Amino acid sequence: MDYLKIKLEKIPRIGLRYAPILKKLNLETVEDFLLHFPFRYEDYSERIEIADLQAGEAATVMGEISQSKMVRTWKKKMMITECFVSDETGTVRAVWFNQPYISDSLTVSKGVRLSGKVSEDRNGLFFGSPAWELSSRTPTNTGRLVPIYPETEGLTSKWIRWQMQNLIKYADALIDPLPENILKGLHLPKLSEAVKSLHFPKTLQEFELAQKRFAFQQIFLVQLATQKVKISWDKQNAVSMHFNEELIKKFVSDLPFTLTDAQRKAAFQILKDLEKPLPMNRLLNGDVGSGKTIVAAIASLNAIKAGFQVSIMAPTEVLARQHYESICKIFASYDINIGLLTNAYKLINNFEFPILNFESNQNDECLKIKTLKIQSKLEIKNSKLQSIKNNKLSKEQLIAELRNGNIDIIIGTHAIIQEAVKFKNLALVIVDEQHRFGVAQRAYLQQQISKINDGLPGKIPHFLTMTATPIPRTLTLAYFGNLDLSVLDEMPKNRKSIVTEIITHSKRKEIYDFVEKEIASGHQAFIIFPLVEESEKLTELKAATQEHEHLSREIFPKLSLGLLHGRLKSTEKEKVMQDFKDKKYDILVATSVVEVGIDIPNATIIIIEDAERFGLSQLHQFRGRVGRSDKQSYCFLFTGSKTTKAKSRLGAMEKTSNGFKIAEEDLALRGPGEFLGTRQSGLPDIAMEHLANAKLIEIAHDYAEQTLLDSPDLGNFPLLQKELGKFQANIHLE
Ligand code: ADP
Ligand code: MG
Repeated sequence: MDYLKIKLEKIPRIGLRYAPILKKLNLETVEDFLLHFPFRYEDYSERIEIADLQAGEAATVMGEISQSKMVRTWKKKMMITECFVSDETGTVRAVWFNQPYISDSLTVSKGVRLSGKVSEDRNGLFFGSPAWELSSRTPTNTGRLVPIYPETEGLTSKWIRWQMQNLIKYADALIDPLPENILKGLHLPKLSEAVKSLHFPKTLQEFELAQKRFAFQQIFLVQLATQKVKISWDKQNAVSMHFNEELIKKFVSDLPFTLTDAQRKAAFQILKDLEKPLPMNRLLNGDVGSGKTIVAAIASLNAIKAGFQVSIMAPTEVLARQHYESICKIFASYDINIGLLTNAYKLINNFEFPILNFESNQNDECLKIKTLKIQSKLEIKNSKLQSIKNNKLSKEQLIAELRNGNIDIIIGTHAIIQEAVKFKNLALVIVDEQHRFGVAQRAYLQQQISKINDGLPGKIPHFLTMTATPIPRTLTLAYFGNLDLSVLDEMPKNRKSIVTEIITHSKRKEIYDFVEKEIASGHQAFIIFPLVEESEKLTELKAATQEHEHLSREIFPKLSLGLLHGRLKSTEKEKVMQDFKDKKYDILVATSVVEVGIDIPNATIIIIEDAERFGLSQLHQFRGRVGRSDKQSYCFLFTGSKTTKAKSRLGAMEKTSNGFKIAEEDLALRGPGEFLGTRQSGLPDIAMEHLANAKLIEIAHDYAEQTLLDSPDLGNFPLLQKELGKFQANIHLE
């Protein structure tokens, strides 16, 4: 009997009561459950002094019991065990409800260790039902890594741990997708062993080895995926475009600024790629504000003037519109037709001003044309467009304008490739990923792009993707596989640096006053805060709403505050961002979902609450939301944390504004036990740590190469093939 395939509802302690809840996490069978990994570990291993405790933080303290008593509340008929624990620096209270047996062990003058969340009431700070043990014992529940699982409404990590204990024995039946010779060669544990170690790490070494195994598996799959894409991409043809040096030189010299050396180099690399009859596959990696758009524009101009069409895609409508606006400005004096195409099939053809605005009808079948102001200096050179100006334009006609080549450059969301859009001669596709795009996502996108329908049979478009997440050089192979890379590691000169400051609770008021002053002078601010209980969606909603209410009522009663959180639909999120951009709010309160890449030049302040809970790279991304104009901008990192680790980590933000340096630092500082990324569950995050392991990456790269040589379609490795399929499924482009 295959125990792994047993449905969870058949498991006695789960049953019909919990199975539907687990299904929401996509867990249906015992196997699914076993592969539901902790997405982080509460690190109770760093003990702090009692005087340093802060309300709201999880912590471990050690001390001696100075008082212990049991009280019965007559109202609620509850037994409360109350203890006072002291170390050299102070005393803290701990309470447990309805666990009377605890008081037998917690007697005065015993040494104990407490781990848990610190709360505050009118009697001061206290631990509410903390994990505890006598300090003479080796730590198991406290002072160690405690796995925390992705939760859902109605299920706690504790419950999952408990069930896992019951089911872990079935892990032995798991079949390993990794070929045995590879595991042996690397001295890595089998899948079954590794699964057990991740759920119940006995020793740190055992846990790290398990982690390394999954990291290897992840990197190996990434390598397989990217190498497969590369093999098939490199077999294709593309149009070779003449590098119009004269045109580009003129364009560059007409810019209101001088290009940085990094921009020059990247543009040159791209233009050289476009000359080849092979499809480009290049990533332009540059920090926020490093000037990627102009590099993309140079490539586009060259392609358009060589007679081809270009498409620029962004993950959201707001970002697409933003690109559209900057491209319109950049090409204002060039005779280029620029279109904007988004999910709603809006098309605006524009040289300098919007002249046509096709709006989606209710039924989406027919698109109405609104003629906006036509300025006299604007010539409509395109007779076809003029002829349809006063008519209705169907979706088909709209596509026809792309089809017959009337539109030179089309900007939009990924909808462009997902819908049945046809082109006359699309020869360059630029994708602005903004955030870190997964390898699988990029592979999928490339596949779609190579299928784009146009009048260039046998040729696929050149492909340029742009990301604003600096990746340490040591990681590029792991992350990008065999992609060609151009890096903008240099900022345009005359950029004002963003004043960054770590703020402890006592200075809060001062900062709030400063925010009011800035807003009074017409600026806007972001306030970012982490989630209270990660991945608890309902809690996110509640926490976000509460935070927003608190700030609106008590701190900034005279200002208008918008709210952005992960529970909003993507169209709702876009509306909030747009409203903020349109200055309908003074302050945008947001969870970490705040749109990467959105340009709000008027925002000059970003406050990040509980900053220590974010990774450095993420903090740097947040900081990039401000400083997008010539106004002085500020980033305030609020923290209550007293641990030295957290402080030195945040200190890096004060010291440098170089995203690549921060990424390196982030990587270096993240020792075992600290995990990057709390968004996703399962393998990728667990593997993140080891992605820094250059040696492991090289090994994975070589093994992947060898494996694909042996079996190009992985036919000889059916389990691996299946795993790769899973890895590539579930692609979300946003
Ligand atoms: P990102 O890399 O984040 O996409 P953008 O392309 O949006 O950055 O550029 C940010 C701003 O910097 C834009 O206003 C752009 O015009 C300006 N910019 C780009 N390159 C330079 C440069 N070499 N010197 C000065 N300003 C520049
Ligand atoms: Mg950009």
